[in-house]
Amino acid sequence: MSNSQIQSDSEEFIQQQEKGDLNFYSGLFDPCEEVPQKPQETQTIKDKVIQQTKQTFSKQSTLNQKIKSKLNKVALKIRKQNEQFYEEPEQVEEEDPQQDLQQEQQLDSKIFAIDTEFHQLKLNKALVKACHDQGYTHPTNVQAKIIPIIMNGKDVLASSCTGSGKTAAFLLPIMQRFGNLKNLQYSKALIILPTRELALQCFEMFEKLNKYANCTAALVIGAVPIQQQETELRKYPDIIIATPGRTVDLLTNSSSLEIQNIEILVFDEADRLMEMGFEKEIRQILQATSKDRQTVLISATLNATVKQLSLLALNNPIKVNVDFVGGLAYGLKQYLLRIRSNQDSDREATLITLLKTKFKEKTIIFVKTKHDCHRLAIVLGFLDMSSCELHGNLSQQQRIQAYEDFKEGKFQFLLATDLAARGLDLTDVKAVINYEIPYEVTRYIHRVGRTARIGAQGISVTICLENEVVKFKKMIRQSKQQLFKMIADTNKVRQMRRQIQQLEPQIRKVIKEEVAEMEVRKTEMMTQKGEIPMEESEDDDNIPEPKKGKPQMKNKKRAKKFNN
Ligand code: AMP
Repeated sequence: MSNSQIQSDSEEFIQQQEKGDLNFYSGLFDPCEEVPQKPQETQTIKDKVIQQTKQTFSKQSTLNQKIKSKLNKVALKIRKQNEQFYEEPEQVEEEDPQQDLQQEQQLDSKIFAIDTEFHQLKLNKALVKACHDQGYTHPTNVQAKIIPIIMNGKDVLASSCTGSGKTAAFLLPIMQRFGNLKNLQYSKALIILPTRELALQCFEMFEKLNKYANCTAALVIGAVPIQQQETELRKYPDIIIATPGRTVDLLTNSSSLEIQNIEILVFDEADRLMEMGFEKEIRQILQATSKDRQTVLISATLNATVKQLSLLALNNPIKVNVDFVGGLAYGLKQYLLRIRSNQDSDREATLITLLKTKFKEKTIIFVKTKHDCHRLAIVLGFLDMSSCELHGNLSQQQRIQAYEDFKEGKFQFLLATDLAARGLDLTDVKAVINYEIPYEVTRYIHRVGRTARIGAQGISVTICLENEVVKFKKMIRQSKQQLFKMIADTNKVRQMRRQIQQLEPQIRKVIKEEVAEMEVRKTEMMTQKGEIPMEESEDDDNIPEPKKGKPQMKNKKRAKKFNN
């Protein structure tokens, strides 16, 4: 039955009403109203109306059913399309491998200076050979541009996308310049990086490039015995690779670190240094070095704080801006996965569904808090999915271990807070998932910069509440790169939610046990140090012999009680 047919039937009915034919029987439509006694012919009209009405209703209900079934079909089609997209988001692109190949070739020329060879950069044979050993056939664009400038002794302010070979870009010219000056009894270069992990990574890169060369370097970071570093520094290594905290500590409290003769000072990840609040340390370091030094400032993002630092540290710098698409790598494909604003509780199930179906290995998941990060690790553990954690609640040793393990492929997933975002050189990361949108664009750039490194392809997915989408889009606008849509399969998410709900008591139990264990460990440590936790201080039996002299602030209350 067509729509027009139905419409004409209803119109007829309305026309009859308007003519007044049916006015008397309007009560028929209200069962509460009493129907008056009617003559025989009126009864016939009434029957006719009832029949007509029934017919109209039946026609409408058939139509309703038809519409309903059609809607169902459309919904099913959409769901199927979504599932397909969800299962294989890149399927469309993979249909034309030729195009993919062309794309890769284009990518190469964006990252690499394909017309340049390492030896053309006036690097010595030992360094060129080490580069080739590392599989570096051509310098990257940032290397081709920065190496000659650093060799010429000029100050540099460089911004380059993440994973573009920045570390070798400043290490190679430094090693070239100072490798053969063994008769000079002072350290010649100081490289400052914001975190211990990054400093360690830079040091590892130095060791690889130094394979056939004769340079010396010292790693100066926290959480390593200071005496060992002091001994190394007294031998005047050519290069000092350091974090700002330990550098200032040694400058203030030890005579082993002399930086007044430093010829090159490098600040890598400059924006992060400022963001982490190291401005005071940077000023102290700048003051302790000579004004004649050469300074290099490198960052993936050039924000206001970096400009502020550049005014402070640089002298007439040459500005180098390479491979810059708002700091994002060319090979990165960005996805957005929306979840309804009132369904934040589905975030966990959505993420795990994604990990189970699409991103099954070499994936980093960035999480805002240490607590959520650890909870996810527990949930994944119960679901037989292997993961390691990297956040501030872990010791330095545990952090290095997690980094190494993930790098070696011992785990499918790395769950991390922003601590791991910066500069960590994890090769072959297939995807980065943002469990929530990051606080600001710089963090986003550094997080997604863990994939699509050095010309490779990679995927990023950001899970975003509907009401945060505008904020997120604004945040990443500067990248000018396309944002694709990823849709989670609602059925699978629902199943996963149920599975997690069933696991909830066990998850809670693990967390509770861990908290209790931590408390015991804390108490043990305090006892070893001779401290008594405050809760116990009220118990008179536990009061130890007070030390002679003034009572310590912490134990003041207890001491007062004792003396009284
Ligand atoms: P970076 O941007 O310094 O963190 O380096 C990212 C990655 O690029 C590291 O794994 C380096 O080993 C690698 N790399 C650096 N220079 C080159 C090059 N010229 N060719 C290929 N890979 C490189």
